[in-house]
Amino acid sequence: MNRLLIENLDYILTVDPLDRVVEAGAIVVEDDRLAAIGPSAAIAQQYAGARFDRVIDGCRTLAMPGLIDTHLHVTEQFARTLIPDNMPTRPTVFNWLMPFHAAATEEDEHVSMLCAGIEMLRTGTTCFLDMGAEENPEPVALGIERIGIRGITGRNAADTKPDEIPPFWTEETIRRHYFGSTEEALRVLERHVDRWHGYAGGRVRCWFNIQGKEPCSMALHVGVQRLATAHGVGTTYHAASTLAEAQGMEKHYGMWPITRLHHGGALGPNVVLAHAVAVREEEIRLLADAGTKVAFCPGTSLRGAKGATVHGKYPEMREGGVTVALGCDGAFAAGSLDMFRRRIWRSGCSATHGWTRRGSRRPRRCGWPRSTGPRRCSGTTRSARWRWARRPTCCSST
Ligand SMILES: [Zn+2]
Repeated sequence: MNRLLIENLDYILTVDPLDRVVEAGAIVVEDDRLAAIGPSAAIAQQYAGARFDRVIDGCRTLAMPGLIDTHLHVTEQFARTLIPDNMPTRPTVFNWLMPFHAAATEEDEHVSMLCAGIEMLRTGTTCFLDMGAEENPEPVALGIERIGIRGITGRNAADTKPDEIPPFWTEETIRRHYFGSTEEALRVLERHVDRWHGYAGGRVRCWFNIQGKEPCSMALHVGVQRLATAHGVGTTYHAASTLAEAQGMEKHYGMWPITRLHHGGALGPNVVLAHAVAVREEEIRLLADAGTKVAFCPGTSLRGAKGATVHGKYPEMREGGVTVALGCDGAFAAGSLDMFRRRIWRSGCSATHGWTRRGSRRPRRCGWPRSTGPRRCSGTTRSARWRWARRPTCCSST
């Protein structure tokens, strides 16, 4: 057994049910499991005489659980700064992102995953939900395995081409984005889930991920949710991203996106909706009753003027029992995959919109005693990963 000791940590945020914060703490890791967390003095007593394969001095640093990015496009890592900042969602996706995705090779996607993984680990994110690779999840799965992070990926799918094909789309753009039929899309996605779910000792998970909205039929939305349930996995897609999308749905189908998904039978506890900006008060109950989760991406909302600060209802969703978490979306959307920046922007959105702090949690000090005596502070083994996060911060609220 390999045993690691991280000692002399200034703070440990446990994020346990009591939100305890340990001052002057230590952590013991045995193989790939946390074996003990507590005040340095208590850990020293508990492990008196024990041998450690490695000891890290955590002085002047803070330890906390890894963050989870609940909405990400790994493939877009190299689209950063590529796309003009002053465009709304539709031309951004149709005119820039879709041709970009169509040109991405498997090698591009593998290197994107490596770079995204490094950026995430350096900023405290240890798990993510990716919308999926272009054609084959393999380069992303192999990147996850290589970089040491945890991730959920898949094969992003759509089955409904727009009535009018943009003139600059090539045959390859169309072939990469749209399956010939719903059945074909479901068959291919299932094959990838069978192949990649549980890969790399379980660090790779594979879901039935689709684009969502107009590029996907209701049959595809419902089909992936049912297949995901049968396979014990999940599905994620974009929904209710903007007011314009909601108004378009109302015009075509007589109802807003969340209501339409509800009527179609597509919602469920294994569904994560990205954005969900345009949500009516009565639709919050539909999400809560179905157990459907929401990934709020404040960077994308601000950049794409999606309207989160005007009509977003994230605090109301949380109060209504909907799980709401933060996501970064593509790196192009806000220039980084730093979840701490999202937390700050989320706070800015709240202030702009006049959202209250209802339901937000504050870390509480635990009753454990401080360690006594002088604390060693060599700082020689301090990793870059810990250095940025010295101040105790709670980032689990949305
Ligand atoms: Zn997205």
